[in-house]
Amino acid sequence: MNFSHWLAKLYALLAPKTEVCLACNRPIHRQQGADFRRYDPFFQNTDSTLHGASLTRSSLFTRPTEHPFINLCEACLCQMAWIRIIRCPICGRAIGCPDCTRRGSERTYFQYNRSAVQYSPPMREWLAQYKFRENERYLSILGYMALFAYHQVLLQQLMYKQSPRIDLITYVPVSETRLQERGFNQAEQLARIVAQYAHVPVQSLLQRNRHTIKQSMKSRGNRIEDMKDVFSAVNNANHQLQSLFKIRNPNNPDSQTLRILLVDDVYTTGSTINACAHQLKKSIDPVHKLEIYSLTWARS
Ligand SMILES: [Zn+2]
Ligand SMILES: [Zn+2]
Repeated sequence: MNFSHWLAKLYALLAPKTEVCLACNRPIHRQQGADFRRYDPFFQNTDSTLHGASLTRSSLFTRPTEHPFINLCEACLCQMAWIRIIRCPICGRAIGCPDCTRRGSERTYFQYNRSAVQYSPPMREWLAQYKFRENERYLSILGYMALFAYHQVLLQQLMYKQSPRIDLITYVPVSETRLQERGFNQAEQLARIVAQYAHVPVQSLLQRNRHTIKQSMKSRGNRIEDMKDVFSAVNNANHQLQSLFKIRNPNNPDSQTLRILLVDDVYTTGSTINACAHQLKKSIDPVHKLEIYSLTWARS
């Protein structure tokens, strides 16, 4: 190797690497002074203005060691469809909501749902990249985004004058066939990331007994009928929950209520979450009380 070749190699090694955006594959050009963190809703608002004194970000979860948004370009960061204003207190939608008011005779078994983003076309594409094209690098981004919904769940508890708390995280299961096809359960992966940041235990409490066709393709009546018996609690669910009750402080007046956070990727009509919540409530000894909260990455 002659000297000029050697020098060219050295330059290539020392030159700043062009980072490529994870979502659009274009080079990331950051403008002077621009910071990817300003697209992070937790960095935009100082703890005191957003969360109130008793719900600071640092009390909720640990900071990521490397911020996952660093891998996205400005154009893609702009597309994150954060749900900042909630219009429907039940499903956490940003727009008016016929689904929740129409649930009517079908009982609601969960407290409420909160989602991080609206299921806009770019968000749909991100999820598809991760779920169907096995682009695993999306997981850290989606998981971190889900924390925004976690924060919203606790914030709502605070607004209802409860102490903000989740005791256990679980997730909507996929069928055995789906698990073998895809190799992973997206809801479980999201749940595990949230649990890790928030330092809350995560347990598998539900199983899916069969596939269902896409919920959005069906009429409301068919949807409710179709969800019957799709899910059931795992055999030892009651035992797992009982042991959690035991470790709770008996002097605490609400130690007899266990708060479970149920995680899924997308909330469409709420029938999946509601069916899962129903099964969880059925699985527990009636002397104890479960409150089930729902966290979904997106709200369609
Ligand atoms: Zn991009
Ligand atoms: Zn709603």
